[in-house]
Amino acid sequence: LLQAQGLRKSFGTQVVLDGLDLEVDAGGCVVLIGGSGSGKSTLLRCLNLLETVDDGQILLEGVDVSDPRADVDAVRSRIGIVFQAFNLFPHLTVLDNITLAPVRVHRVPRAEAEARAREMLDRVGLADKAGTHPDQLSGGQQQRVAIARALVNRPALLLLDEVTSALDPELVGEVLALLRELRSDGMTMVIATHEMSFARQVADTVCFLSDGRVLESGPPEQVFDAPRAPRLRSFLAAVT
Ligand code: ATP
Ligand code: MG
Repeated sequence: LLQAQGLRKSFGTQVVLDGLDLEVDAGGCVVLIGGSGSGKSTLLRCLNLLETVDDGQILLEGVDVSDPRADVDAVRSRIGIVFQAFNLFPHLTVLDNITLAPVRVHRVPRAEAEARAREMLDRVGLADKAGTHPDQLSGGQQQRVAIARALVNRPALLLLDEVTSALDPELVGEVLALLRELRSDGMTMVIATHEMSFARQVADTVCFLSDGRVLESGPPEQVFDAPRAPRLRSFLAAVT
């Protein structure tokens, strides 16, 4: 579904992505792990075209989305993203938060956008919250709204960046359960996380980022139970 090849990205003199390759199969779940500052968020932002890469190619369904002539809005409707901070608009209802981009950016008729938004709210277990404002929801519910919003364009790929790290521990479970559900429904996902136990549960492939590349990757049993790279071993020893 997605092939990224030779991605390079620097901020000033700091090289963050240094020829990184990544491949995501349709229906697959790739989990990115790595130390703070290893480039997980930068990679996700590049995939969603929130950052431009300095070099390299990103193919989504065979189309080069990293081409400067690519239609950014069209790409973003194919690749949804959810962040650590839910970034909901506080003055809008839950329903309007979800329909805003489809109606304003993608010119979806309002009635259709609302129908899809309600379907997504139902999918994330919040069908009864359409008219509520975000500040009346728990953190876990707000994050589920953000996920519904990312799903409303029916993206081919969903990117999730530390979506549970801003949540109180008792709210983490409901969001992780939702991600497991999406995964078993066949949603293709790339997830950056610090939660190794979750990574182990959902990933088909775990990618360890170090020095701007995927230093080691494989099924969770291999990466977590039989890591080869010394850096991955010391990373795992430090976080688990
Ligand atoms: P964490 O686990 O803490 O979320 P990460 O793996 O997501 O870390 P990134 O956020 O991708 O790491 O950051 C990689 C490096 O790029 C960091 O050193 C960061 O300071 C730098 N960086 C990221 N975004 C910018 C920016 N917009 N301008 C300058 N430097 C940046
Ligand atoms: Mg990050």
